[in-house]
Amino acid sequence: MPVVLYAGSPDKRSIYARELPRAAAEVGIEAAIYMDIHDIAPDRVDYLIFDGNGPVQDFTPFSRLKAILNLWAGVEAAIRCAPPNDLPIVRMVEESLSEGMRDYVVGHVLRHHLDMDRFLGPTCRDLKWENEFPPLARDRTVGILGLGVLGADCAQHLARHGFRVLGWSRTPKKIECVSCFSGSDELNELIGQSEILVLLLPHTKDTFRILNAKRIAMLPHGTCIVNAGRGALIDHDALLSALDQSRIRHATMDVFDVEPLPLDHPYWRHSRVTVTPHIASVTRPATASKAIMRQITRGEAGRAFENTVERMHGY
Ligand code: NAP
Repeated sequence: MPVVLYAGSPDKRSIYARELPRAAAEVGIEAAIYMDIHDIAPDRVDYLIFDGNGPVQDFTPFSRLKAILNLWAGVEAAIRCAPPNDLPIVRMVEESLSEGMRDYVVGHVLRHHLDMDRFLGPTCRDLKWENEFPPLARDRTVGILGLGVLGADCAQHLARHGFRVLGWSRTPKKIECVSCFSGSDELNELIGQSEILVLLLPHTKDTFRILNAKRIAMLPHGTCIVNAGRGALIDHDALLSALDQSRIRHATMDVFDVEPLPLDHPYWRHSRVTVTPHIASVTRPATASKAIMRQITRGEAGRAFENTVERMHGY
C-alpha cells in the first residue's frame, strides 16, 4: 500500500485530512495517508504532497519517494527543495484550476476591452451622455504569454468570444483560432500588437523580467496588462513609469515579487492598477485530492505520471 504524506500548509491540513481519503475511495485506491510529518519516518514515504508553505523544505531525507505531488501549478518551491536527481515533480493540473483562471482572465480582459472602469469608478459621475460605438471583440487584439494548460485554455475561450488572439510559448504550437508565436525572436512581434496583454508564464531563469522596459515601450499606446503568471515576469519600476505616463492604461496584477504585497507598495494606491491577492486561480482541495489520487494510481500501476516538471527548463 503506498504511503502518502501531506506536507502542505498547516491551515489546509484539516480539509485535506477529509478530502484525501474521500478521493482515494472514489478513485478506488488504498493508501496509507499521513497528515503529520511527525507520524511517519521520511524514508517510508512514497508520495509527498507539497505546496512550499508546510514543514518540508528539503526532500533529501525522503529517500524512497516515487514523486512529489505539488499542490500548485507553479513549481518554483518544489524545484528548489528537490535533490539533483530525476525524482518526478508533478504539477497540479485539474479542471477547477483551469476554470478559475479562465473566469479571472476572461473577466478582466472584458473589463478592459469595454473600459468598464469608466462607468463603475468614482469618475463615472463626470460621464458625458454621448452616443459612441463601443468596441467589438473582433476589433481587439489580445496577446497571451504562455500557452500551457492555463494559457491555451484562456486563449481558446477568448478566441471563441471573438477576440483576435495571439499566443506565445517556448515551443511552436497549433491552437484553433489562435495565432501562435514561439521563441524569443517572435515575442516582440506579438508585443507590438497586443492591446491587452495577459501573462501566464511560469517564473524561470528565461522568463525573469521578460516584460522589461524595452518591451513595455513596444506595446501599443493604451495597452492593458493582466498578470496572473508570476510577479517576477515584469520589471515593476518600468511598468509604474509607463502607467504614470498613461502609456499603459491599466494593469491588473494578481502576483508580485513579494507576497503578500507590502502595504507601502505603490501598486496599492495607483489609480491605474488593480491588485488582487493571488486569487486568479486557487487549488481546491476536493478536486486537487482527486487529481493527486489519480496520479498515485498511475504511479502504482507503473505508468508515467502526467504533467511532470522538466527541471532543465524550470517548469
Ligand atoms: P504550463 O502548462 O507549464 O505552461 C507554461 C507555458 O509557458 C507553456 O506554454 C510554455 O511553453 C511557456 N513557457 C515557459 N517558459 C517559456 C519561455 N522561456 N519562453 C516562452 N514560453 C515559455 O503552466 P500552466 O499550468 O499554464 O501555468 C502557468 C503559470 O501560471 C504557472 O507556472 C504559475 O506561475 C501561474 N499560475 C498562477 C496562478 C494564480 O492564481 N495567479 C494559478 C495557477 C498558475 P511550452 O508550451 O512551449 O512549454
